Amino acid sequence: MDDPHVNAASAGRGEFYVSTALLQKANDGQLAGVLAHELAHDDLGHVAKAQPLGGGSGSDVVILDQIMPGSGALTPIAGSLITPGYSRNEEYAADRHGVDILKRAGYPTETMVNTLRWLTQMEGTNGGGFFATHPATGDRIEALRGVQ
Ligand SMILES: [Zn+2]
Repeated sequence: MDDPHVNAASAGRGEFYVSTALLQKANDGQLAGVLAHELAHDDLGHVAKAQPLGGGSGSDVVILDQIMPGSGALTPIAGSLITPGYSRNEEYAADRHGVDILKRAGYPTETMVNTLRWLTQMEGTNGGGFFATHPATGDRIEALRGVQ
């Protein structure tokens, strides 16, 4: 995805999109953390749940994750319907399951927390007052403390 914001989306069936900004700014661990989180959404069935009921519309659903809360604009992916985000509980669940995925892949347990911290810093430098309206990232780091 050609997008100046750090963001990622999943289309189910193990298919993911990441923004060019994410690829440019993230180091290996941070990229792995974001991908593990996306993979976790897929693993936990969050993506399948978001598919349109009845199906047969022919248009793929791509779920834009609130990797960086507040970065709304996204270049549309051709032929796909982009739906915004997951519920808060799904985000927490994806973070927790993401830690397991990272462990299995041989990454240190703190990779996910480090990734969230890095995202918090990015939010800060991006301005826009995300912290006023979207305190979620700090909460997510807090929620992962018990998991490590
Ligand atoms: Zn998510």
